[in-house]
Amino acid sequence: SLSQRLSKIVKTMRGQARLTEENTRDMLREVRMALLEADVALPVVREVLARIKEKAMGEEVVGNLNPGQALVGVVQRELTAVIGGDLTEEERSLNLRVQPPAVILLAGLQGAGKTTSAGKLAKYLVETMKKKVLTVSADVYRPAAIDQLKTVTEQAGADWFPSTPNEKPLDIAAGAIDHARRRFYDVLIVDTAGRLAIDEAMMREVAELNTFLKPAETLFVIDAMLGQDAVNTAKAFHERLPLTGIILTKTDGDSRGGAALSVRHVTGKPIKFVGSGEKLTGFDAFDPEAMASRILGMGDIVGLVKDVTKSINIAEAEKLATKLKAGDRFDLNDFRAQLAQMGAMDNFSSILEKLPAQFQEMAGKVNDKEVQKQVRRTMGIIDSMTPLERRKPELIKASRKKRIALGAGVPVQEVNRLLKQFEQTQEMMKRMKKGGLSRMMRALGG
Ligand code: GDP
Ligand code: MG
Repeated sequence: SLSQRLSKIVKTMRGQARLTEENTRDMLREVRMALLEADVALPVVREVLARIKEKAMGEEVVGNLNPGQALVGVVQRELTAVIGGDLTEEERSLNLRVQPPAVILLAGLQGAGKTTSAGKLAKYLVETMKKKVLTVSADVYRPAAIDQLKTVTEQAGADWFPSTPNEKPLDIAAGAIDHARRRFYDVLIVDTAGRLAIDEAMMREVAELNTFLKPAETLFVIDAMLGQDAVNTAKAFHERLPLTGIILTKTDGDSRGGAALSVRHVTGKPIKFVGSGEKLTGFDAFDPEAMASRILGMGDIVGLVKDVTKSINIAEAEKLATKLKAGDRFDLNDFRAQLAQMGAMDNFSSILEKLPAQFQEMAGKVNDKEVQKQVRRTMGIIDSMTPLERRKPELIKASRKKRIALGAGVPVQEVNRLLKQFEQTQEMMKRMKKGGLSRMMRALGG
């Protein structure tokens, strides 16, 4: 990841007080690589880098940060800003401040996720915004697409306006808007057809629909997995339609999110929502900070440190730092103390959300109460060990494992799992010690 690569460079440049051309050159090269690897289009990479460089030069390296960490901070901040963090809350949210029904038109390539997003958006509007919502499909080329919209609309608890492949898209739109007016709908979501590649007839059709409907929102739906191709697709739609915002879909995929940056750059429009997964629940307001972290391939380190500081028991941390500094080994007693701290956190899931993508996915599944239960269970296993075993975990072989499992009332596999976790943590502590664990702990302690 970028943070790993940067930390390698950082080792060579301790104790400098200011970011300079000199001490950031290698790191900026790594940032550039990270952006390209995240599939950000080259012109976009250039502009973002120029902006980062401009902000970084002369930046003071504050507190206990080294220049590398300071630069990571600048990169994170600028990328967040470019991707939408510099927009107001209002600019990033849905505009429904029009004479109802507010029309939302969805446009994009076939397979981008328009129909799915129509369902997700309907659910969000019905459940969260308490709106009366009607949907209609102007996709007259694929009968299955109309049925698909009907299905997701029903799942969303919204109403569906029937249309058939025999009608013209403009006639469908006219019928739906008329119905929505007479029945006092707050919102009409119009799903449109897409082709596999941009073609003129399709563009004309959707542009005509837009002119006729005068939508409050014309949302461009784009697949996050598109990578560099996102640039051309976004350009084509931006040129033909007065877009008001973007829905980025399939963020559950393994793309690093470069498309988000490219689309934002090309259209200048705010990314308003992100979709993840085929179920209607996977729909969220766009979070520029989280997306910037994903693009850079690292968690929101600053936020994480802040959260941990809030929850951590400083005295315990200090004790551990002093101990490790004295050359003592990290043992199961220390591990238990860490678990106790974790068990005292009631915001574990919110911490996970700030980590790289693979952890963020866990966050949705993590139930803080469950974590606390699991932590207590694990601590129970350690409590069933003798003081000697806790100090020398390598003594714990088959027969001791059986005894510990029995004492804690858990299967032996759980004891094995605990020991494995412990080893990994021990390994991590060793590495962190070299990298200045005690300094970090002192920083946390203020
Ligand atoms: P449309 O042609 O633009 O209307 O696209 P659809 O809504 O029909 O979606 C195309 C395919 O992508 C379908 O199989 C959807 O289930 C799937 N899909 C849509 N959004 C997402 C998403 O956020 N994540 C995943 N994994 N699949 C999605
Ligand atoms: Mg569709």
